[in-house]
Amino acid sequence: MLKLHQEGDRKPGARKSIPREWFEAEAAFWKAALGLDEWDVTLVVRPKFKLEGECNVHVGHLTCKITLRQDVLPGEARYNVAHEFLHLAMRAWDTADEKVVNEHVSDTGQTAALAILVDGTEVAIERLAHSLVRLTPDRTEP
Ligand SMILES: [Zn+2]
Repeated sequence: MLKLHQEGDRKPGARKSIPREWFEAEAAFWKAALGLDEWDVTLVVRPKFKLEGECNVHVGHLTCKITLRQDVLPGEARYNVAHEFLHLAMRAWDTADEKVVNEHVSDTGQTAALAILVDGTEVAIERLAHSLVRLTPDRTEP
């Protein structure tokens, strides 16, 4: 598809900063929508984080820290929040992957096997995030 760049358009890929309060409300929405009530989530919003988002689960506990980049690509904020909360919702999948690799893959193949599984999980979660955001069009980002 060809897109013409018009005078006054935002630069392609230009980021915009979204208020922290918006992220808090959106995080509460996805936590409830995905049935993650039992999780104690610490939400961190950083202006120029190295990633769009990150979900660090504290193994053995129902606690985690989700970090989100505050300056986002236009239209991407909702996907970023949904994506990180989907990592929590899919936690059992990650745990199963790790168990299969630890118990059934040779020591020399474990790193490569885990990398393949992590890449596949990222693609699946990103697709789910985009689908779920499209299914909730009543919510918008600022
Ligand atoms: Zn991810």
